[in-house]
Amino acid sequence: MARTGNKNIQAKLVLLGDMGTGKTSLVLRFVKGQFYDFQESTIGAAFFTQVLSLNEATIKFDIWDTAGQERYHSLAPMYYRGAAAAVVVYDITSMDSFERAKKWVQELQRQGNPNLLMILVANKADLETKREVENEKGEQYAKENGLLFFETSAKTAQNVNELFYEIAKNLAKAC
Ligand code: GDP
Ligand code: MG
Repeated sequence: MARTGNKNIQAKLVLLGDMGTGKTSLVLRFVKGQFYDFQESTIGAAFFTQVLSLNEATIKFDIWDTAGQERYHSLAPMYYRGAAAAVVVYDITSMDSFERAKKWVQELQRQGNPNLLMILVANKADLETKREVENEKGEQYAKENGLLFFETSAKTAQNVNELFYEIAKNLAKAC
């Protein structure tokens, strides 16, 4: 296959969202292809890299995961400074986490990088019986605020690769 014009892109990706929404689990599902049931929510390496190859580009993600600072509902600006993409995660079984996700989106909008790609992620889609946040709610909020939207499950892997491929495609397009 012809690979002329192939671009190499390095992109910082940050995760935001309430504690326990599954940020670390999503990253581990994407990077390691596994789900760790008993993982402690505050513990975790804060930095991962993963490469995705598309036809038109190769994207190297530098993924910044929080290590529990989100507990205080604030993150140092250096956490998202220079980010190309921000993934804001909520848990479909927690309306609180959805409300908190909106706050994170507002904070990102305030910090004023118009090129930042923002993605709203409704995680734990496998817990349908405990759902508190309807799919349409997340979808509508995302639409109104110009965010991409995905419902995922780090546990079953539903939509996780799709999420990161879509981010990669959007970044490649923007470059
Ligand atoms: P973080 O604090 O946002 O990084 O959340 P974690 O990734 O540590 O996950 C918090 C808890 O939720 C852990 O017990 C995970 O096993 C669990 N969890 C994460 N993602 C999912 C999911 O998609 N489905 C279910 N059922 N549990 C999940
Ligand atoms: Mg975590």
